[in-house]
Amino acid sequence: MLTFEYTRADSAAAAIDLVEREAEAKFLGGGTNLVDLMRETIERPRALVDVTGLSAAIEVQEDGGVLIGAAATNTALAEDRHIREHYPMLARAILAGASAQIRNMATVGGNLLQRTRCYYFYDDAAHCNKRRAGSGCDAVDGFNRIHAILGASEQCVATHPSDMCVALAALDAMVHIEGKDGTRQVPVADFHTLPGDTPQVETVLAPGELITAIALPANPATGQTYRKVRDRASYAFALVSVAASVRVEDGSIADVRIALGGVAHKPWRATKAEAALRGKAPSEDAFRAAARAELADARPLRDNGFKIGLAERTIVAVLQELTA
Ligand SMILES: Cc1cc2nc3c(=O)[nH]c(=O)nc-3n(C[C@H](O)[C@H](O)[C@H](O)COP(=O)(O)OP(=O)(O)OC[C@H]3O[C@@H](n4cnc5c(N)ncnc54)[C@H](O)[C@@H]3O)c2cc1C
Ligand code: SF4
Repeated sequence: MLTFEYTRADSAAAAIDLVEREAEAKFLGGGTNLVDLMRETIERPRALVDVTGLSAAIEVQEDGGVLIGAAATNTALAEDRHIREHYPMLARAILAGASAQIRNMATVGGNLLQRTRCYYFYDDAAHCNKRRAGSGCDAVDGFNRIHAILGASEQCVATHPSDMCVALAALDAMVHIEGKDGTRQVPVADFHTLPGDTPQVETVLAPGELITAIALPANPATGQTYRKVRDRASYAFALVSVAASVRVEDGSIADVRIALGGVAHKPWRATKAEAALRGKAPSEDAFRAAARAELADARPLRDNGFKIGLAERTIVAVLQELTA
């Protein structure tokens, strides 16, 4: 049995200090991912610092943006009236994930840092560079139906599993971070990293840094949504998902934001598709050309080639819905 110490932090500074003192300490949110990983002995922290008592406030700021405390539960965020009204893609994305019981426990901070659902990552008998650096990747030539088509490397082809993060990337949300050297902010789209030669590194967070909040910018587009395609209607991760917003002015696309889930090691901001659409009249042909521009660099593995067509069709369908 692995033993560990448990402490509940009453301030961000205390949490950072407690994690700093123990080399193998981790922050604990709702525990819905970390505790599972500890049961499988994939994560072996010697100390857990519970941060669920820190800010869980969801506050509209003077400029109209929203600041969300990292300890806010996924349920609280999805049910918040202001979020549902002004950031519906975020509420939809959260409600498309996990189950009501898990969303009641899961926190915003923990959701950002949940680990991949690659089968081999959870199988201690498998080779996995993410679990043991340099040990190989059994997914590359194995069963890889759920794996990445964009931005993968020979060292890792895993995808990031979060629905919430895909909407946050499309919304241009910022992650507020605090560490022993001060505070900083990072756009969600830059927070997660591609696997490259170091798939064990998943974000730009330095050891001991705490996520304190997420900031949503003001004035989101009114036309926005999140669509998730999966094997089952509940309790299933995205094969492909699309978060998008579109603003049409005088018959042409003035602003468009698109992020994809289920296709890469990080929420994938579809900047090539966005560039292809800006200034164009909305039409199925324009949407399809934009989706193809984004997916031109897609590299399918043995079992996941279907994701390219699925992503294209989902992007087109979402943009048609938003501009109908
Ligand atoms: C059966 C099942 C189905 C699921 N389905 C989906 C799904 O369809 N879509 C989806 O998006 N998710 C899904 N999830 C994942 C779920 O959303 C995550 O487990 C959850 O969001 C993690 O949040 P948590 O607070 O429980 O994190 P924890 O498990 O407590 O922590 C996760 C990680 O975050 C770190 N951490 C936590 N808080 C902070 C902080 N403030 N600062 C720095 N580090 C921190 C921890 O150290 C740990 O490394 C599913 C989970 C389960 C068990
Ligand atoms: S895809 Fe990544 S997580 Fe999966 S086995 Fe390979 S290295 Fe591990």
